[in-house]
Amino acid sequence: MSLNVPGIASHFLRSRITKVCVAIAGSTPAEMIEKASSVVKETPFLEFRLDYLEKPLLALPKFRQFFADNTVATGIATCRRVANGGKFAGSLAAELEVLTKCAAAGFHLVDLELESAEAMKKADLQKLRDTGIGLLISHHDFTGTRDLDSIFTRIEAFHPDFIKVVPTARALVDNLTLIRFLERMNDHSNIIGICMGDAGIISRVLGVRAGSAFTFAAATLGEETGPGQIAARTLIETYRIEQVDAATKVYGVAGNPIRSSLSPIMMNTAFRRETVNAVYLALQTTRLSDLLKLVHEIPIQGISVTMPLKQEILSHLERTDPLSARIGACNTVLRALDGKLYGFNTDVAGITGPLEKRMPLAGARILVLGAGGAARAAVFGLREKGASVFILNRTAETAQKLARQSGSKTIRHEALAKTSFDAIINATPVGMAGNKAAPLLEAKDLNTKLVFDLVYNPLETPLIHLARQLSIPYITGIEMFVHQGARQFEIWTGKPAPEEEMFRVVLHALRRQAEADATESKPEAKPAARQKSEAKPKPSAKPVAKPPTKPKSEAKSKPSAKPVAKAAAKPKSGPKPKPPAKRLARKADKPKSSAKAKPAAKKSAAKAKK
Ligand code: NAP
Repeated sequence: MSLNVPGIASHFLRSRITKVCVAIAGSTPAEMIEKASSVVKETPFLEFRLDYLEKPLLALPKFRQFFADNTVATGIATCRRVANGGKFAGSLAAELEVLTKCAAAGFHLVDLELESAEAMKKADLQKLRDTGIGLLISHHDFTGTRDLDSIFTRIEAFHPDFIKVVPTARALVDNLTLIRFLERMNDHSNIIGICMGDAGIISRVLGVRAGSAFTFAAATLGEETGPGQIAARTLIETYRIEQVDAATKVYGVAGNPIRSSLSPIMMNTAFRRETVNAVYLALQTTRLSDLLKLVHEIPIQGISVTMPLKQEILSHLERTDPLSARIGACNTVLRALDGKLYGFNTDVAGITGPLEKRMPLAGARILVLGAGGAARAAVFGLREKGASVFILNRTAETAQKLARQSGSKTIRHEALAKTSFDAIINATPVGMAGNKAAPLLEAKDLNTKLVFDLVYNPLETPLIHLARQLSIPYITGIEMFVHQGARQFEIWTGKPAPEEEMFRVVLHALRRQAEADATESKPEAKPAARQKSEAKPKPSAKPVAKPPTKPKSEAKSKPSAKPVAKAAAKPKSGPKPKPPAKRLARKADKPKSSAKAKPAAKKSAAKAKK
């Protein structure tokens, strides 16, 4: 057989592969086979990282048994040497020996690094191909994204069945370089392109959209074999990779850090539920220029903007709604048909919306803790609704400035015990997971009918805990998070957002995260425990009651950017909004143990009536 002829028919291989190949790693063959046996039921395309094993040769009979038991499985064998970014400490000859025996062990493909292929004698490579196994030649650049075409040319010289080009994204624009490369190669159906790193997460979805034959995923969260790898289930269920095609519209959340953001799971769920052909990605960046280039070139139809870009983006927008301009921050960008960017601030609705469902805001006395971005959205939004706002902030000058700008008052901590409010809103990070600051308020300070903590992780913050102990109705930060996301969905799609479903997945994700954190903090915790909690939702994640309908006042507040306002205010198609559900806060907010605490929504609704 000639060196230039693929070992086994590429067409046969391609008929077996799916868009996702799950990387299986483990320190023993038994561990790897256990993982593979569980993964293969859902995703039959697997990469076995033999280089993670101490003695890969000795493990081959076990893999032969696995393939005999799982004829549906298609397996890639990888035994990457340390010099090329893998874990195999043996020589090139030892790597070749392992790979050459992989065909007899039932593998369908071997992954050979370009550096190894180039260093091998032609006769040795021919020996590998003569086994009949498919050949994938890969190149990994762990430092950046460069010379993709010349890497392709070097690999193509070996005429492998698959060509895998894996650079590292240092910035979002590196994904663009990869995407353009894949598009240029669109007459080749055997190229795999991925950018490693957090900034490259989007390439794991957009690479396939641009023509990558498939992409790689981790078996579960925490079992990544490459930087920026996503868990297979997330790629398949959240990002719906099998359905992503050239017509799929792209949206994303931009900022830093973004990897653990809950926005992708919430927004992708909404797109799936409303059958919108769109995908929502995590855009990790600190540089606005990096983001804007991507937005215009991909193009990206809408962005949720988070820290540190919320203020900086304002000067790059064609127009914003007046409230965003006054607040000085924008969290939602729409790329209109003319390619121009329009900005909105849905954080405001995320705060005023849940409050308005519980009390009239005109004339309400509301204390806002903090004077940062979220506090500004709260203060300006509440002032616009006619509330009387009091601001308490760690840095008094910032509070005074915000009070002057918004027509509010400042208040000293000492005055709280003697002052009563209709609502107290925490717009500081105090109480957030990982934040060690002491609680800002004590029981004597909570002279209020309602507590709203914008922090949503943990599910029960110390402030919410205190409110519950005092039987004060409360709203958790999840409601704000979901509400602001729902408004974004409506601005982008013109359809009513499936708020109930969005709430349910966010709550479920937070509960799973809390379970995983609790498991990890136990000294005897094993990775398998985390895997289990990911694989099967716990029955404790109860469905949440239907979300409340959109308040009339919200529907009326049209932003000044005309094309956008129209889309947001007048949904043309899609299912009708869900009927109101009065018990949202009660079911969502009431922890299991709080049998005696009064249900938030019920009590506040009762008070609102008075
Ligand atoms: P930010 O712009 O950084 O502002 C933080 C504010 O909190 C500042 O006023 C700061 O006071 C104050 N602060 C920080 N640490 C404090 C401490 N240890 N003691 C007292 N005050 C402290 O942040 P942001 O964007 O407004 O976000 C604030 C919080 O709101 C976030 O942590 C997040 O949990 C929550 N949030 C939730 C949602 C949601 O969808 N649920 C959305 C946005 C934000 P100084 O002026 O003295 O620095």
